[in-house]
Amino acid sequence: MNPLRPIQSKLKGMPAPLPKRHLYGIILLGGLTLTTTVLLPSPGDLATQPIKITIPASLNLPQKAAKEQVDNTEFYTLPSDEIEPVDALDEIAATEPEWQEYVVQNGDTLSTIFNGLGLPLATMYRLLEADQGKVLHGLRPGQTLSLLIDQDNLLQEFKIKRDLLHTRIFTRDGDGYQSRLRTEESNWETRALSGVINGSFYISARDAGLSATQIQRVANLFQWQLDFARDLRQGDRFKVLVQREFVEGQSTGKSELQAVEMTNKGRTFYAFRHEDGKFYDAKGESLERGFIRIPLERRARLSSNFNLNRKHPVTGRVQPHKGTDFAVPVGTPVLAPGDGVVVKAVRHRLAGNYLVLRHGRQYTTRFLHLSKFLVKPGDTVRRGQRIALSGNTGRSTGPHLHYEFHVNNRAVDAMQVKLPMADGLGGTEKRTFLATVEKYRQELDG
Ligand SMILES: [Zn+2]
Repeated sequence: MNPLRPIQSKLKGMPAPLPKRHLYGIILLGGLTLTTTVLLPSPGDLATQPIKITIPASLNLPQKAAKEQVDNTEFYTLPSDEIEPVDALDEIAATEPEWQEYVVQNGDTLSTIFNGLGLPLATMYRLLEADQGKVLHGLRPGQTLSLLIDQDNLLQEFKIKRDLLHTRIFTRDGDGYQSRLRTEESNWETRALSGVINGSFYISARDAGLSATQIQRVANLFQWQLDFARDLRQGDRFKVLVQREFVEGQSTGKSELQAVEMTNKGRTFYAFRHEDGKFYDAKGESLERGFIRIPLERRARLSSNFNLNRKHPVTGRVQPHKGTDFAVPVGTPVLAPGDGVVVKAVRHRLAGNYLVLRHGRQYTTRFLHLSKFLVKPGDTVRRGQRIALSGNTGRSTGPHLHYEFHVNNRAVDAMQVKLPMADGLGGTEKRTFLATVEKYRQELDG
């Protein structure tokens, strides 16, 4: 295609000869190169002498980049009188482009940032095309962007720091960008923290340097052995091994408990972290306590399932059934489904004689329509222990045990709920674990 055509066709309809010189057009190319077409009085000269003037200020550009700038523009043969670059300015051209940093402000979007930096939006679209991780959609105030913009106003490299550990890097590649994720080297440092209970465990542990999350975690680990609110005494001791992640001396905020030692009224409890992320005691036994699915000695007929949308057979109204009913004769022993504490053993108009157990921090179980209690509030019970005899008290249509299982105060289906597992370690795993325990113990004491 003849690049001159658009200009020539326009000129055909113009009256000739022209009285004087006119500046017919200026094509300003990225502010770098000025091209003018000068109309001369003689029609013969018309449009045949475009003059390209290179503005000296642009001479500090590398020549290659300058060429790239005009690649897509209509262009025509240069006249012989092109002004040559000045040598002295050429040396400045060798200057390396510098990195600039931009801290994302409230209300910023990528396009407002690019506008502010004078970068073309086309560049932004090229970046977005290369942004598989969608990091550019989630800019957060305070995030630092690093931009390497060359003298041609081309964004050569763009970095977005996602956190201390991860930086997304976009590198110019042809017309578009290639993106990659750089992960910094981090190191984990282990610290032993210890303290004596003075006031609450929470305050004492905070004073020793544990975070709120870590304190919660410690209490959860020992939930089956210790009630932190009730059992801990002034003068009880604790030691905690915490691993923290650092990048170039700066904490990433990530930390992991490794080992905990609690001394309560002269008894010492341990929790050690295994490779599977779970905690075990010093012998490799699970710190969790398992449950039995059905709190009866023998399997009994299930007369009514857990059903939150149950309709009453007569009224048709939705009457949730928050437990499981077992058809058992009056006087059938009822068992504690897991280790726990008796919270309630009372008589109720509808529930009859009913009993509530608490197991650790998350779980409670309820038993309704009983004929006799075998335990009283405050008693500690072991899994499988007889706690009551079934009956037909309260509003009941026949002898049965109504059994409820609550997780975080919400009734769930006791026959379906995922119960805590109580498996200890065995075989090779146990040997690996016991070796780690030795190391942990030294660190706890060190
Ligand atoms: Zn029921």
